[in-house]
Amino acid sequence: MKVGVAGLGAMGGNVALRLMEVGHQVTVWNRSPDKTKPVADAGANAAASPAEVAAASDVVITMLTDGAAIDAVYNGPKGLLTGDVKGKMFIEMSTVAPKVETDLAPKVRAKGAALVECPVGGSTTPARKGQLLGLMGAEKADADRARPLLEQLCRKVEHCGPVGTGAAMKLAINLPLMVAWQAYGEAFAIARSVGWEPKRLLDLFVESNGANNALKMRAEMIVKMFEGKDPGPTTFSIDNAVKDLRTMVATGESLGADMIATKAALSGFEDATKKGFGGGDGAQMSVFWSGRKK
Ligand code: NAP
Repeated sequence: MKVGVAGLGAMGGNVALRLMEVGHQVTVWNRSPDKTKPVADAGANAAASPAEVAAASDVVITMLTDGAAIDAVYNGPKGLLTGDVKGKMFIEMSTVAPKVETDLAPKVRAKGAALVECPVGGSTTPARKGQLLGLMGAEKADADRARPLLEQLCRKVEHCGPVGTGAAMKLAINLPLMVAWQAYGEAFAIARSVGWEPKRLLDLFVESNGANNALKMRAEMIVKMFEGKDPGPTTFSIDNAVKDLRTMVATGESLGADMIATKAALSGFEDATKKGFGGGDGAQMSVFWSGRKK
């Protein structure tokens, strides 16, 4: 199949590599051209604009930072919707507020194309291996059409309901994960007073009932952070976590919920960005906060 990918960040780049691995003809575009090179070197066609990606593809996947990025890539000059896209399908995989997706859907439909939202659980390694958790929001016929392709990217694809429901479910499943990084930071502040080496500390935490999968998967990375060594590439940035936490607070409050833990975690993550950790991995929160004094 001819598949386009617009947005080659940590996730989009790995999705593009996975699509090529399973045999698709892939055309890519990224705002900053440097991120296009490794994907083009692996065999993708590099397009000069989102419009060129849409023209070359039957299905276009977008995985972008936020609503502003989605607006620029779909509706901007030379955007995905500027040419003739009748009959094509757009799969929007960013983590954003439900309203971003429900506002986009009629614009895509007005051009005779279909919009399927499918934000995902899982980070860069599952993206590269086709092991994401897909939370699809779409009309039934569009969902059926998108499923075979999405199943090549995801270990499980859940059709949540119409467009907007996938975005809501994604925010919900990510919320405990984000709050947990703040909680680990506070827990490590206490635990480190015992004076153990970082590896022994992480080994114990990983054994405990409070350890989620993210902590288990990043334990080694966190040990390196504590030891002041290079922890390797960022999988999910603190900047993106701030964006997600803000969206969670706004979405929860719009539903009348009192988002006290989410707001507290947001304030911790915002502090980390002020201290220059915005580009660092979300796991860095646990290390940063454990050493921070009131
Ligand atoms: P990332 O590495 O920061 O990449 C963001 C992408 O969005 C880049 O391609 C960036 O282009 C593009 N972008 C941002 N603003 C733009 C604009 N105004 N116009 C055009 N392009 C723009 O982020 P990521 O980690 O891949 O995440 C992408 C999305 O997936 C986010 O919504 C994130 O919350 C979600 N997500 C991430 C993970 C994860 O573990 N990383 C997991 C699940 C979901 P440039 O390269 O030019 O900046």
